[in-house]
Amino acid sequence: MKTLPDARGRFGNFGGQYIPELLVRAVRQLETAAREALADEAFLTAFRDELKSWVGRPTPLSHAPRLSKRWGADVWLKREDLAHTGAHKINNALGQALLAQRMGARQVVAETGAGQHGVASAAACARVGLPCIVYMGAVDVERQAPNVHRMRLLGAELRPVESGDKTLRAAIDEALRHWVADPEGVYYLLGSAVGPHPYPWLVRELQAVIGREARAQMLEACGALPDVAVACVGGGSNAIGLFHPFAQDAQVQLLGVEAGGRGLGLGDHSATLALGSPGVLHGCLSYLLQDADGQVQESHSVSAGLDYPGVGPEHAWLHETGRARYVAAGDADALDALAELSRCEGILPALESAHALAGARDWAKQNPGGRILINISGRGDKDLGILLAQEAS
Ligand SMILES: *Cc1c(COP(=O)(O)O)cnc(C)c1O
Repeated sequence: MKTLPDARGRFGNFGGQYIPELLVRAVRQLETAAREALADEAFLTAFRDELKSWVGRPTPLSHAPRLSKRWGADVWLKREDLAHTGAHKINNALGQALLAQRMGARQVVAETGAGQHGVASAAACARVGLPCIVYMGAVDVERQAPNVHRMRLLGAELRPVESGDKTLRAAIDEALRHWVADPEGVYYLLGSAVGPHPYPWLVRELQAVIGREARAQMLEACGALPDVAVACVGGGSNAIGLFHPFAQDAQVQLLGVEAGGRGLGLGDHSATLALGSPGVLHGCLSYLLQDADGQVQESHSVSAGLDYPGVGPEHAWLHETGRARYVAAGDADALDALAELSRCEGILPALESAHALAGARDWAKQNPGGRILINISGRGDKDLGILLAQEAS
């Protein structure tokens, strides 16, 4: 198989650099610096040491015996919920904060949806000693209040975004604007496998530790690879991090689960690959949710982390080549799966991760006795407000 992205930052037709002239130089510099850093044994050793001693890696692989029994399957959980700050986001934030430091940046800017990437960025910047500014949609500031406080405690400056859809998409627009204003002094710490090249590649490389560990842990625990590896897909970073090390294992199915929201109508879901079409958003060509005139549409999901109308270009490519399959799980299915895992295994997952569980449960129905690896991308404590409100309604 070819190594992707190619020299132009493309996964097949997808990816690329659709950016304003003002950013071309900064993006090229980032590309060079990232390539050098990821080929530098000293940088990689520093990253691995921090992943171990500060993030708490490797995260465990947990067997799920009671869930396995209920589903008629053999279910294994990769526990990114146990990583420092409570989700996989820290792997990427730490790696990029180290890169920002290496590049001599004066300040880091980040965007956040659920607040998990904001918290991870704030923590990673504190760790490397760089000031951090986080843009967050006003709607998300509201529904993720605990993470807002955590970011401030970790020393980040939070800037609520009142424009556009007031969620992740608008926050990315603002962060990009901030970067354009000072491309030399500012490092833009992008939170998912989206955006212009080199981000989708860089984020994948930093998150692939999930799949590398999980693959080795599966072989050690069961002496075999899983039949399917399942992850939720917002921008696609935890999914590509899980999938990438299994890409050459043809017998391992790759299943991405997007947010089906409250229905199939435009504006009711975030199922970009299942229901969207190709177009350009935030600097890259990928799938997105758009109307007949090509206007990007607002997305919906009960989980803020999946509420984004785009998706990473490598997923668009995996979707078109058929190497990975993408399905949607709705709000209600995710809430139900969250309750089931919590009660069966004593693990309260993030609402985002609950989508992966819901997709995996459907897969188990169609594949009795199958061996399933599910990425639990984060823990559910941040969602308590939403869960309480759901219970009350
Ligand atoms: C942000 C987030 C996601 C979605 O982002 P990806 O880039 O698609 O991984 C999923 N799970 C959790 C817990 C998150 O915080």
